[in-house]
Amino acid sequence: MAQLQGSVGLHGLNRKVDVTHVQEALRASGHSPGPIDGLCGRRTIGAIVAAQQRLLARPDGLVEVLGPTWRSLSRPAATVASRAAPAIANRTAASHGAGSAASQAPSASQAPAAPPTSSRGLRYTDHLPLPTRGSVNVGIRSPSNHAVIARLGTPRESFTQDCQPPTNQAFKKLVVTTDVGPFRVTGLRPAVESLAAIFLEVRRLHPDLHTRLGTAGMMCCRNVRGSSRSISNHAWGTAIDMKIDGELVPRKARHVNLGLQLLAPIFNRHGWYWGATFSTPDPHHFECGADLLATFHA
Ligand SMILES: [Zn+2]
Repeated sequence: MAQLQGSVGLHGLNRKVDVTHVQEALRASGHSPGPIDGLCGRRTIGAIVAAQQRLLARPDGLVEVLGPTWRSLSRPAATVASRAAPAIANRTAASHGAGSAASQAPSASQAPAAPPTSSRGLRYTDHLPLPTRGSVNVGIRSPSNHAVIARLGTPRESFTQDCQPPTNQAFKKLVVTTDVGPFRVTGLRPAVESLAAIFLEVRRLHPDLHTRLGTAGMMCCRNVRGSSRSISNHAWGTAIDMKIDGELVPRKARHVNLGLQLLAPIFNRHGWYWGATFSTPDPHHFECGADLLATFHA
């Protein structure tokens, strides 16, 4: 069986060749990762989680190079049914807190002949823990108001908690309304162009997810929620709030969802910051990072 060069799955490195190896191994062990295409999407992650349900107390959707999931998956397919027994035995021993694993293990004849699990398909709205700092937004900073104003000016004189229209005539010339793939948005022209490129990539990598994307808006001249001093980056039309299957994961939530987690690395590759790692988490929020913003001209 092949060696992996990097991790595969949720938060994984997901090199195409490694994803292909994992997909082949998942399929050989009776799971359904979707097409063997080297792309780590919802079905592949769902199949990894399903495979881990008999291996790990807490399936995490990630196959690490030297970890138990790959050690198990990369064994010859003939051992699939027989290796179910120790996993069940360990779980039984752990849940009862007494007795040896061996004495409680079901005999091999009791184990089903075929792999007993079918892959549990994950939904894009399934909850996942907030990402750790360092797993996303690497090298990407949220721009300060000072930096944005220096670059683009101020959209209007004053801000409240409510959306108000921009009044700065020079700034208004930069605002466009256009189709970016899954929906139409109104925002700053270069940010909207970047979004269109992002959604093109989403459509290529996760075509099914692309059809489930919605938005709660981009341009909105207001302050940051709960602040009377900080202007939201929505005021310049350089931020967007994303819905997955109609769901908007609320600000301050202690979770994200699978759809947002799959979008994040794509937004990051295009220089956008994901609000899930703000000190007040805002998982539905993505905004142009400081370095991307520095390429915009008023
Ligand atoms: Zn937002």
